[in-house]
Amino acid sequence: MSAAVVIDMGGTSLRLGHLFEGKPVGMFQTLPTSALRQASDPVAFLAEAVKAYTEAQNLRVEALIIGVPFTPDRNLSTALTSPNIRNLEGAPIKTGLEQHLGIKVMLERDINLLLLGEWYAGAAKGIKDVFGMFVGTGVGGSFLQAGSPFRGASGGAVELGHIPIRAEGKVCVCGNIDCLEAYACGHTLVALAERYDTQVDQIFALADSAELRQELDAFVRDLAYALASAINLFQPDLALVGGGIPAMKAFPKEQFKSIFYEHLRKPVPETTVAFTWAELGSEAALWGAVALQEKGQL
Ligand SMILES: [Zn+2]
Repeated sequence: MSAAVVIDMGGTSLRLGHLFEGKPVGMFQTLPTSALRQASDPVAFLAEAVKAYTEAQNLRVEALIIGVPFTPDRNLSTALTSPNIRNLEGAPIKTGLEQHLGIKVMLERDINLLLLGEWYAGAAKGIKDVFGMFVGTGVGGSFLQAGSPFRGASGGAVELGHIPIRAEGKVCVCGNIDCLEAYACGHTLVALAERYDTQVDQIFALADSAELRQELDAFVRDLAYALASAINLFQPDLALVGGGIPAMKAFPKEQFKSIFYEHLRKPVPETTVAFTWAELGSEAALWGAVALQEKGQL
């Protein structure tokens, strides 16, 4: 049996890893997403990156799974809209890569892949209905029913980062105003760190001014409101929160949880939903790919 390459395509970096005989081996290469963004032919760029990776790792590859940070079409083949990597819009990503590489290619929303990984091998193992929120560069949501992502009219439902949250008129990367991502995502922390002259990766630990504390409280509140809204809508068995931001030093986890629980409907889902933090970290995409392989989707 041969290997499958997995790309975790983020707003900042592309991470390449692989499975061998249906098990994760690791993620061994990182490329800046800016290089993909600047490529005149992004499909050829991705194909070359996969070829270079398979040569470096000496692999015989039968499939490629990509967790994508954009709204895919219903067939999970192209990008309907891709605000973070504009040159992927309209590109024949799946079919183009299949032609370049001569292997099966599968696209899945990045957040679905991460939550599938947690459902298969991590903090949501054995749970029927799971809602996941991942907070990193953006804010992603995924709702799995017995391991099947809820998709809606495109391949990209459950866009938690783009629900309206305040009425201050801030423009979101998607073009709408007042989306959650306009107020509470990785970009927000970068902007706050600049404004208050502090290190972004230490911002929760170092925040010493009352003004910055207030901004961070609002940041945590907006995220907790969004998750409570989602759990009130879907009433899953488990709410899972992951991504780089909740994993940051001194992120106020208890504050987040208490605001979240305060805003759940009583008695259901307040008494029925369990809560967990993600546990697989960056390996979740690999386990998500294993789940897709086992489900026969490759
Ligand atoms: Zn938006």
